[in-house]
Amino acid sequence: MEEEAYELIKRAGEKGILQSELWKILKTNSREGSRIAARLEKKGQIRREKVLYKGRWTYKLIPIKTETKEVQWTTLNGCPCFTCPNIRECKLGSAITPANCKELTNWILKLIKKNSNEINQ
Ligand code: SF4
Repeated sequence: MEEEAYELIKRAGEKGILQSELWKILKTNSREGSRIAARLEKKGQIRREKVLYKGRWTYKLIPIKTETKEVQWTTLNGCPCFTCPNIRECKLGSAITPANCKELTNWILKLIKKNSNEINQ
């Protein structure tokens, strides 16, 4: 029921959902519902915001954004390993290793610089 509650809260988005509404949808009582909300809050998945609704204080449940940038294949464009003649010999502990490869290091540094420029724009 916890996962179902979290999905419903996520679907409500930024505006959140009143806990009483959620308990109705989940067909549970406020005692069990409050336990679920407390667990989700403890896990850092939601936050509870105290709101006045129809003259009574209650809580609105709001999802906490956990945006993760999706990794795409285009991120690997230009990676020197794909065309490297040494790829079969390259491994940790070997003379040819990613740990001291200038080409790989330069490519990663360029990628970091490009991403930080995009973030700052
Ligand atoms: S880390 Fe360097 S040496 Fe190893 S496969 Fe990639 S480009 Fe080649």
